Amino acid sequence: MSKNTVVTEIVEKYKPIWALDHAQSLLEWDMETYMPIGASKPRGFAQAQTALIKQQRMLELAGHVSKAEKLGDLNDYEKGILRVIKRDLDYYMKITPKLLEDMRRISTEATVVWREARRKSDFPMFKGYLEKIVDLKKQEAEKLGYKGHPYNALMNLFEEELTTNDVDRVFSLLLPNLKRILNKVVSEGKFPSTHPLESVAYDEAAMRRVNLEVLKLLGMPEKTFRMDTSTHPFTTSMSVEDVRITTRYEGKDFKESLFSTIHESGHGIYDLQVDTSLEYTPLSRGNSLGVHESQSRFWENFIGRSREFTKVVYPSLKANLPFVSGYNEDEVYRYFCSIKPSPIRVDADELTYNFHIMLRYELEKKLIGGELEVSEAPALWNDLMQKYVGIRPEDDSQGILQDVHWSGGGFGYFPTYSLGNVIAGMFYHRIKMDMDVTDVVRKGELGRIKLWLKEKIHSYGATYSPKDLQRRLFGEEYNPERLVSYLEEKYTA
Ligand SMILES: [Zn+2]
Repeated sequence: MSKNTVVTEIVEKYKPIWALDHAQSLLEWDMETYMPIGASKPRGFAQAQTALIKQQRMLELAGHVSKAEKLGDLNDYEKGILRVIKRDLDYYMKITPKLLEDMRRISTEATVVWREARRKSDFPMFKGYLEKIVDLKKQEAEKLGYKGHPYNALMNLFEEELTTNDVDRVFSLLLPNLKRILNKVVSEGKFPSTHPLESVAYDEAAMRRVNLEVLKLLGMPEKTFRMDTSTHPFTTSMSVEDVRITTRYEGKDFKESLFSTIHESGHGIYDLQVDTSLEYTPLSRGNSLGVHESQSRFWENFIGRSREFTKVVYPSLKANLPFVSGYNEDEVYRYFCSIKPSPIRVDADELTYNFHIMLRYELEKKLIGGELEVSEAPALWNDLMQKYVGIRPEDDSQGILQDVHWSGGGFGYFPTYSLGNVIAGMFYHRIKMDMDVTDVVRKGELGRIKLWLKEKIHSYGATYSPKDLQRRLFGEEYNPERLVSYLEEKYTA
């Protein structure tokens, strides 16, 4: 840790800020799970006020940080502390309290309006809010400053140092390769586009039992972890010792519930395996969103959707969902890995998912760059969906209104989903050098994989920047070829 008195003092002064973060996480978790719908205004007010207190507390650290910057000879932990605090400080020094408060307030209100608009497929109802949000995001980008495209300023908030050049490079390699693999899968028919198991209704209590057994398989701790239900599953990490996930139960197509549980558990495993010595410090969080998403995708797709994992989970499926008995392991595996282009991102399979992200990336880049009006966005959305996925959405609830992100002001967030897939591919490539993953999964020894991930990445928390972490681990950054090789081998070999 740190023997440096300046850094030690910063860590001490950071503790109340950590506590505010903790409280904010709980407010957000509650808003998505149990808060009554009419409570959004006072909740928005409370969140805005809490954010202001946090901003004041952060700004009080500025003097200490500039003092610490003059010190040489810092270790990785100390450098990490300063790097993460400086990123937050930079944000607070550039973003005025008014802009911060406006964003909090509007996004809280907009999220409630978006829910209603989506239900009614009524884009005009949401349009005014989206215009306000895009305008605030443009102001934010200008205040933060950027090199190249203004969108870089927003992406940097979620994925440190990420630029449109990085994302353009990733997509330019990914898309033609994914198209090629997709065409081959569709023409060969080895993996079905639809499967009878998709339409079989399940009992929610029985499916919950399956999910609880999967949590046991993954070794999720009972005392520091819990799972609830929400329409859009998510993970909230309040501490190294308090991680909450949600999953969904739609009554049929049980794989959706199963893989939501595994995906969010992947996020949870990361946060629960951060070294406890980092608790209450700025490093007690996972790395960037892209790196975080790499962990959830790794568990969901590379492990969960493998033939070997199907074997491991099959007995529990048969025991709890009687209709599964009519299908052997191979059939269930084909159901898990069915490939069906869909207009809905959250329903997308491993192969088509990145097309959805490319679409959102293009729209966001254009909206923030001022090349597209909000009123033109639904039509462009539909055109791009047709171009990439080959399907035109029936209405705006199936199109531009499908995601919660924009209502919450999350511009610059979507690209991290594809980066997550890309980095997960890099992890898969790397772990195979150290162990026979298929054999480990076949034996159900998932703890070995968890331990490997803990040592390689989780224990460090946010000590290293995402690009730095990748260079240390893989000797390269955001290399999409690893993902392509994995998909190629799995779906076309
Ligand atoms: Zn995720």
